Amino acid sequence: MDSARTMIRHNAPQVAESDIAAVEAVLRSGWLAHGPRVAELEAAFAALNVGGASCACSSGTAALFLAFRALGIGAGARVALPTYACTALLNAVHMAGAEPVVCDVRADDFTLAPESVPQGLDAAVPVHVFGAPADARGLRGKVRLVVEDCCQSVGGLRDGRALGVDGHAAVYSFYATKVITCGHGGLVWFPDAAAAERALDYRNFDCRREYMPRFNLHLSDINAALALAQFARLEAIRERRLAIARRYAAALPRGLAVQGGEFDAGRMAYRFVLLFSGLEARDAASERLAAEGVQAAVPVEDWELLHRYLGLDPERFPNAERIAATSLSLPLYPALTDAQVDRICAALNRLEAA
Ligand SMILES: *Cc1c(COP(=O)(O)O)cnc(C)c1O
Repeated sequence: MDSARTMIRHNAPQVAESDIAAVEAVLRSGWLAHGPRVAELEAAFAALNVGGASCACSSGTAALFLAFRALGIGAGARVALPTYACTALLNAVHMAGAEPVVCDVRADDFTLAPESVPQGLDAAVPVHVFGAPADARGLRGKVRLVVEDCCQSVGGLRDGRALGVDGHAAVYSFYATKVITCGHGGLVWFPDAAAAERALDYRNFDCRREYMPRFNLHLSDINAALALAQFARLEAIRERRLAIARRYAAALPRGLAVQGGEFDAGRMAYRFVLLFSGLEARDAASERLAAEGVQAAVPVEDWELLHRYLGLDPERFPNAERIAATSLSLPLYPALTDAQVDRICAALNRLEAA
């Protein structure tokens, strides 16, 4: 039973008995490295996206890098990135030798809007932020290549189609806090099987007849088995997350806004992010929630914004600056019990919109 004194953590992974059994089977199989489970995971993502081919790898960052490499986004290429994003995007662009062009995001769903991307760039990386779909199709009309960052949206649908299928590549992360996890891991999917072949080639340096620089970006079968076991319940995870988000939406005090608007069918409710009128109201709400045993989190701090890391003028990124100062994320994950969800709803309902 949940006592009011135990803090409900902002995030916690869910490990099912079937996950443990899947990992145990690999440990007993005598084959631990890259092997059949990895190939199965790659096939599972091709099935999810109804075609194409994929390359599993060691992280979401590695998946971004492999996407750039396989699509020829390298030295001289200019890549639009949303400033409200994981530093992994910036790192992967730099690792590929390309040049980041950091852009402001939309005030309501925090995604990269095509109209904020300058003309003439080679590529863009829209992030489906906290599961809210970015306009990948709109960006295709603006830049040559689109790499969809699905690290926070795996399992999410738009108009019945998986998020990720509108670009030239889609990347996923299986880090511990993500929708499905295997500790550390990632995957890049391409609609074009030839691009996937180039990523697969780069991932494996061992026993190659012809030399070119490659890297060990493998995922092991141990990790792949865990990711696969979680992938098998992706729909159930989506439905549980969506049901929790809808309960929060119903408990929301009048006047308080939520990132990404409606929680429509198919939405991957990765986070439920409140938007306050200002920094003081946000921090006061965070303290109130903590006093009620609910650990809320600032999803991205202002100093983490990519334009800040690059030393660019914050005034050029007003939406992201405002979001970083006014947003607060509630616990939202399948491992929450119904009693915990009730407690969070009650605490949320007592917040003021101020
Ligand atoms: C987590 C995340 C990444 C990076 O994934 P890692 O597996 O941690 O390298 C990239 N982009 C977004 C949007 C993420 O949330």
